[in-house]
Amino acid sequence: AAKAAGKGSYRFFTPELAERLVDRITRSANLKHAIEHRELVLYYQPRVCGKTGALTSFEALVRWMHPSRGLVGPDNFIPMAEETGLIVALGEQVIDLACAQLAQWREHGLPLLPVSVNASARQINEGGLSAALAAALQRHGVDAALLEVEITESATVAESRIATEEIAALQRLGVRLYVDDFGTGYSSLSQLRRLDLFGLKVDRSFTARLLHSDEDHELFRAIVSMAHAIGMQVVAEGVESREQLQSLIALDCDQMQGYFLGKPAPAEQMPALMEKAVPFTPG
Ligand code: C2E
Ligand code: MG
Ligand code: MG
Ligand code: MG
Repeated sequence: AAKAAGKGSYRFFTPELAERLVDRITRSANLKHAIEHRELVLYYQPRVCGKTGALTSFEALVRWMHPSRGLVGPDNFIPMAEETGLIVALGEQVIDLACAQLAQWREHGLPLLPVSVNASARQINEGGLSAALAAALQRHGVDAALLEVEITESATVAESRIATEEIAALQRLGVRLYVDDFGTGYSSLSQLRRLDLFGLKVDRSFTARLLHSDEDHELFRAIVSMAHAIGMQVVAEGVESREQLQSLIALDCDQMQGYFLGKPAPAEQMPALMEKAVPFTPG
């Protein structure tokens, strides 16, 4: 059989692949250590209302404060965390950090705005996300209406009993759910309706093309009308210019986010934005 498989059957023994395996094991051990030693930090990026221009919420984006490499972005470790399953522990820590931050802002008497955390579809498909959220909210005495959850569209939420129950449990808690990077996956209208989510975040590639052609512009308009028709809010990601912002307002987009409105920054920089904001009243 080995002979029939040809050269390919020896590939697992090449030094290069062994090296890669060692590298991956090392990196995942390092990330595990980082989670245990609480080396993860959250940066926050503001979102604004498309009708009033007011600050509405913050997205929490994880970074790894590496003792020797400095600040490491999520693209360097989230995919590996997904593959190894570490994403569940990482996700729980992110939820805990976000709730701790909300509690700290409240203690400082700041007007509270919701914080949106990114979750892995694994946390829904395997269950446990709602329990982790409920525990963190209780631990820090935070109202569930102050927490939002984003799930990337390309990471499909299974049509399983666990996933369905998990989403129902999140909704019972009062946590709003968003599909992240909408347009990069394959969600159908019926799936979106079945999941009964609060909103969708249109992937930044659509915002980038918005002003390139009439077709791109009409495509965005169609996404907004479709979402509104099924009762979902629309958030545009990756707004980088005043012109894009103006078009999105005209398209009746509900919220906007992007470098033009504010880059992700450490929590310490948020109170300056919050003091100018309209306070959020739960319920
Ligand atoms: P995402 O959730 O779609 O977050 C938006 C990403 O786009 C962020 O990158 C943000 O910094 C970047 N961004 C925001 N505005 C602009 C803009 O105007 N132009 C451009 N070019 N980029 C913009 P970041 O922070 O590197 O995060 C990358 C991805 O990593 C996130 O994409 C999310 O999928 C994932 N991620 C981040 N934090 C977490 C987390 O706590 N848990 C999980 N599971 N995934 C996370
Ligand atoms: Mg997101
Ligand atoms: Mg996104
Ligand atoms: Mg993304």
